[in-house]
Amino acid sequence: MKVLVAVKRVVDYNVKVRVAADNSGVDLTNVKMAMNPFCEIAVEEAVRLKEKGVATEIVAVAVGPKEAQEQIRTALALGADRGILVEAADAQPLAVAKLLKAIVDQEKPELVIMGKQAIDGDNNQTGQMLAALAGMGQGTFASEVNVADGSVKVTREIDGGLQTVDLKLPAVVTTDLRLNEPRYASLPNIMKAKKKPLDIKSPGDFGVDVSPLVKTLKVEPPAERQAGVKVADVAELVDKLKNEAKVI
Ligand code: AMP
Repeated sequence: MKVLVAVKRVVDYNVKVRVAADNSGVDLTNVKMAMNPFCEIAVEEAVRLKEKGVATEIVAVAVGPKEAQEQIRTALALGADRGILVEAADAQPLAVAKLLKAIVDQEKPELVIMGKQAIDGDNNQTGQMLAALAGMGQGTFASEVNVADGSVKVTREIDGGLQTVDLKLPAVVTTDLRLNEPRYASLPNIMKAKKKPLDIKSPGDFGVDVSPLVKTLKVEPPAERQAGVKVADVAELVDKLKNEAKVI
């Protein structure tokens, strides 16, 4: 079974991002970039399926600038077999989904594993759009994935509980936080990953127009929280709630 994994290059989750001076977006100057954490979980799940003998080949795909090769190499070091980079910076979810659909048509994977959302745009759209474009079933927010007999059972984290769905393969699964704990790449595997095949493509190779459909008007940081105060006793607390905060 071939598994396709989509990995996005985003600002490292440890970085405290700053808004650009002109409020056009996030300032990316000298900022550490990394693989989107939910995509790490997707790669880990694919590698576990390979270790169980369920998957036979893992193809890691990224749409991004040429530097996104780094994230594909990380996926290769973690256990993916080969990579495809479609060079297009700032492609929006629909454009990414169209490119992934074209790659699905070429590669014919039985399972596509993606993150539930990218921590930069917080869109939570690409997996759903790909499933719709490719006519595949979707199991989003997966916390458990079991492949057997031409289908995949996905336990989904939904509001207030868990839902288990059975999808006919080929299907799209998007990962939630509790699906697994990704491993770290070992140094020998990082070295081996340098020799694994990585194809570089352009959106034109797939006939996909990646021009933006959504325009960001303004990005603002969250309001600063005011410092708290310590009160001496309950009477002072009640007084402040009544006369300053005016909430009682
Ligand atoms: P989003 O819909 O942007 O929140 O992203 C959800 C998931 O779609 C990500 O975790 C990735 O698996 C995939 N994805 C989104 N954008 C890209 C991209 N530019 N390259 C590769 N995968 C992507």
